[in-house]
Amino acid sequence: MTTRTSSRLVCKCGHKGVLLSVENDGPGSALCEQYSFAGFGGAALTVTSYRQIPNGPLAAMKPECPKCGRVAQVEYT
Ligand SMILES: [Zn+2]
Repeated sequence: MTTRTSSRLVCKCGHKGVLLSVENDGPGSALCEQYSFAGFGGAALTVTSYRQIPNGPLAAMKPECPKCGRVAQVEYT
């Protein structure tokens, strides 16, 4: 079973985007979450252990704002 979630994000300049995550949470399956951005730059991230993202996916992915160019200045709304 696959769970898709999206979290709204906003840059300090006001630009908005979305953090998309796809989680494979079937019984017996290993943790596998895939994160990507809509509206911000930054590489997609695949997580197989929460130790990879001690401060959450947003801190690990360093989103880049296409409007003002700032990196990792994005917060959840
Ligand atoms: Zn910005």
